[in-house]
Amino acid sequence: MFLYISLRSMEKRVRLRFAPSPTGGLHMGGVRTALFCYLYAKKHGGDFVLRIEDTDQTRYVNGAEEYIINSLKWCGIEPNEGVGFGDGPHAPYRQSDRKNLGIYQKYAEQLINSGHAYYAFDTSEELDAMRKRLEAAKVAAPQYNAVTRQNMRNSLTLPEDEVKKLLADHTPYVIRLKVPRNEEIRFHDIIRGWVTVNSSQVDDKVLLKSDGMPTYHLAHIVDDIEMQISHAVRGEEWLPSAPSHILIYRYLGLEEQMPKLAHLPLILKPDGNGKLSKRDKSGLPMFPLNWYDERTGESYKGYRESGFMPEAFINMLALLGWNPGDNREIMSKEELIECFSFERVNKSGAKFDPEKTKWFNQQYLRKKTDKELAQEVLPLLKEKGINKDIVFVEEFCRLVKEKAHFITEFYDLGSYFFEAPATYDEKVVAKKWNTEVKNTFEKLVPKFEAITNWNAQTLHDDFQLAQNDLGKIDMQMLRVLTSGVAGGAQLFDFLALIGKDEVIARMKTALTKL
Ligand code: GLU
Repeated sequence: MFLYISLRSMEKRVRLRFAPSPTGGLHMGGVRTALFCYLYAKKHGGDFVLRIEDTDQTRYVNGAEEYIINSLKWCGIEPNEGVGFGDGPHAPYRQSDRKNLGIYQKYAEQLINSGHAYYAFDTSEELDAMRKRLEAAKVAAPQYNAVTRQNMRNSLTLPEDEVKKLLADHTPYVIRLKVPRNEEIRFHDIIRGWVTVNSSQVDDKVLLKSDGMPTYHLAHIVDDIEMQISHAVRGEEWLPSAPSHILIYRYLGLEEQMPKLAHLPLILKPDGNGKLSKRDKSGLPMFPLNWYDERTGESYKGYRESGFMPEAFINMLALLGWNPGDNREIMSKEELIECFSFERVNKSGAKFDPEKTKWFNQQYLRKKTDKELAQEVLPLLKEKGINKDIVFVEEFCRLVKEKAHFITEFYDLGSYFFEAPATYDEKVVAKKWNTEVKNTFEKLVPKFEAITNWNAQTLHDDFQLAQNDLGKIDMQMLRVLTSGVAGGAQLFDFLALIGKDEVIARMKTALTKL
């Protein structure tokens, strides 16, 4: 008695699983589910488990499992147990491996023996015929259920002897859940509150397929129980299946051990019109890493390859459908862990905002020191055949970073640091260039040549002094002559960095060309 009470009153250890099916690249909605599970598990000192749900072998895609693992690694939301992350006490974590151990079969048999599941021998032609019959009778959502099962070939309608014979003859069958005809099914979702569904809307779900593989419905329940999962968190698209799941737990006598449920809101297109699809045209990636789908030959760009930082990506994702209760936006992973709760997740869909997503990356870029930025920019410059030392690149980063959203933009924002201009901003030239201005710049060249201590300060001072002699000199014109463009980095800092010889050479070239 004492043991019973103390076990019951003991809170379950917090254990959340992310349970994707390897049917393609993991899109950002999936990453958000993983993130929320991770945040909650970490907040409560619990476990985060990666389980691969590969029971539908017809939809299995090569490379998807590895992609999922690599994506979680890149995002910094690593499970502490599961496929690709080390075996814990509940291994194996891949459902096809678990099936081979016979883990699911016994639960299906338990349901058969207690009369809550049955064998169905219907062929696909018979199922098609049933669907057509129901459609002809104008049944809105034809399904195999308490009413329609009566006209089908299953162990509830066939004589016992015949069922035995069919089984003995290895006639293909599936095992279906026997859903009662008219019963209220009530369950609690942390995000949605109490949900009530009448069982007449619930079909007799297949639990075990003819190849002996369990379906998702049975497999995830068995695994959540055996892996002692405390919270089952998944996308809203699974909400309609939840009533069947409640019945399965109940009929297995496992309702007490059932994990708490949370169904996350959809991620919507930027205009709020429907679910965000993997083919969204907003210009931003829908996948964390580049993904190539070998079945369809389609490739998708990744956040990583588009220059996003994982910290920015997960910060953005965390705020898609959740908020910390105040107006904070930039939050580190540690802060997210500290604040996260499912109670603050919205019921309604969350709009994806591409501009805001870029803004997040910019904010994280701004947090980096010039030294850190230079380490990342240097190899990109090398790829372009530019060999500058790290001190030069550091100063370059300091001068162009303000405008950048991505590391990959640095070169484009300041290519003139590395290459003399081939053209000169036409508008500025048309407006400001004439013989008199040209004369002034011709006289400015020797004044620059005379500077012995070449730095931004001396350049600035000598430029001012030169104006005493030569009259007002247009700074923008000096910029155009030396960079080709009308606006950009601090002018004297830029000139100081590229060096005296380079500046003089660029000015002389411009004076011959213009
Ligand atoms: N395998 C399911 C999916 O990929 C998981 C749903 C769940 O987390 O229960 O959506």
